Amino acid sequence: MEKREMLYEGKAKKVFKTEDPHVVIVDYKDDATAFNGLKKGTIAGKGVVNNKMSNFMFKMLEEKGIATHFIQELSDRETAVKSVDIVPVEVIVRNIAAGSLSKKLGIEEGTDLKCPVLEFCYKNDDLGDPMINISHAVAIGIATKEELDYIGEQALKINQLMIDYFKTIGIILVDYKLEFGRCAKCGKIILADEISPDTCRLWDAQTREKLDKDRFRRDMGGVEEAYITVAKRMGIL
Ligand code: 5GP
Repeated sequence: MEKREMLYEGKAKKVFKTEDPHVVIVDYKDDATAFNGLKKGTIAGKGVVNNKMSNFMFKMLEEKGIATHFIQELSDRETAVKSVDIVPVEVIVRNIAAGSLSKKLGIEEGTDLKCPVLEFCYKNDDLGDPMINISHAVAIGIATKEELDYIGEQALKINQLMIDYFKTIGIILVDYKLEFGRCAKCGKIILADEISPDTCRLWDAQTREKLDKDRFRRDMGGVEEAYITVAKRMGIL
């Protein structure tokens, strides 16, 4: 697979064209941002962990019947994925109160939720990714009701598969963000973007120690170590 011109550079990844119009190459960077780009830094080795972890999760989910953009890992930081048109909706699933939910609803971080919470946010940096509901998304023309119902169903299926997997390596899946896209080749909605400690809150099951990007967001130190701990438990480093 040949890497051609860069299509897009995001905060944590670059995306390149290939000779196949239906395939792009994602290149994971060590750059880290938080609070809508206000806080910037680097996390050494993060790109490698996020690449390998995303690929591991996508493969696991594919085996359980979830369609994803994953095609093939090309190097420590590069992966060939199906070209998609990203649905500009961040899909957040929560199992335990943390972050913005704790703040908004005044629930102490770490409180169990009686059922998974599904949230949609409009992926728009200028607006700070505001939370929206299905009728907002349909009204502003970013997705159809059918697409969002399907995305919500997939996100909850993925939730159970991810909870079960992380349990086997002593990790609690607190919450996470998913993105879906319309596959350029098949037209179907498939899981895209990444699944990594950048996009998930992951706590050690015994100590509840944070093993994710909150260590960077909250200046807790031990950021690189946390990413490596997750990768080692997954057996990908
Ligand atoms: P919260 O809404 O509590 O800030 O985030 C909920 C979950 O979604 C967390 O696991 C967080 O990592 C993830 N998340 C939400 N928005 C973003 C985003 O813009 N970028 C990344 N990397 N993760 C996000």
